[in-house]
Formats: sequence, C-alpha cells, structure tokens
Amino acid sequence: MMQGMATDEEKKKRQREAQARYLSKPENREKALAATRSWAARNPEKVKEREAARDKDAQRARAREYMREQREKNPRHVLSLKLKNAYGITLEEFEILEKSQEGVCAICKKTETWVRAGKVYRLSVDHCHDTGKIRGLLCKACNTGIGYFLHDPELLRAAIRYLKHPPAAPFVGK
Ligand SMILES: [Zn+2]
Repeated sequence: MMQGMATDEEKKKRQREAQARYLSKPENREKALAATRSWAARNPEKVKEREAARDKDAQRARAREYMREQREKNPRHVLSLKLKNAYGITLEEFEILEKSQEGVCAICKKTETWVRAGKVYRLSVDHCHDTGKIRGLLCKACNTGIGYFLHDPELLRAAIRYLKHPPAAPFVGK
C-alpha cells in the first residue's frame, strides 16, 4: 500500500481508537455524556424514533431466533406451516405432488440445484397469481424464467419463435 493511503476500514479503526482514548479520560466522558443528554433533550422525537427502531429490531431478532429453534426441533412442522400460509396446501399434499413429478421440475425435468444456507432448496410451488391455484412444482430457474415472461403463454410462444427464427440471422454473418 502507498504511504499515506488508508482504506476506509483502517480509517474507521483509527477513529474508533481515537474515540476510545478520548473517552478513557473521565472529564471527557462527562462532556460526551452531557452532549448526548442535551441532544436528547432537544430532539425528543428522534429519541423516540430510535427507541422504537431498537424495539422493533429486538422483536424481529426474537422472532427469528424462535423460528430457528422451531426449525431445528421440528422442521416438518415449520415447512408445513409455511406451505399452508403461502399456498394453502398441507405438507402431505406437497409430498404427493412432488412424488407425482418424480421429484423433478415440471418444465426442465431436473432436480433443484439452488442452494441456500448450504442446503439444496426444495422445488418451488408455482401457482396462478389470479386464481391462487397451484400449477405444479418448478425449479428456481424455471419458476423465475416463466415469472419474467409474466406467466403469459403468448409471450413465451413469441420467445420460442424468436429463438427459432432470430431476426438478425439474414443480415449478420456467422
Ligand atoms: Zn426447471
């Protein structure tokens, strides 16, 4: 690294160290506390906002922790709740559908390869956004793909026509 150049990380570290040195002196700590108190007295709304944000963060963290515990204790129960909430099907129904598709995506006929938190994901439940009806199980790629085409058969047909007869072909050399 060049002399005199510092990364943001290093600058922040130096600032933290300087602040810690400054606050290690009791008279400075008193000053800093007084400044904070006076700011709080002048900005009661901001103090309230910050407190509310902290409460919300704590609440969210507790909910996350609870879900993590539940997932560890009873993963099937948590998956079952998720499926019921999001798609209105039971885990048993999901598994029947999965078996009927032989565990592969209904479009590309491959198993899911999408990995999250070190685990291969289960197939996604694809449903009609108008009727809420489940169409089938898709891999993440195919589900995202038809999503981009707005689940519109006409648009998808146009894409196939495009791929089969690319408009540039007559004009552009290979
Ligand atoms: Zn697929």
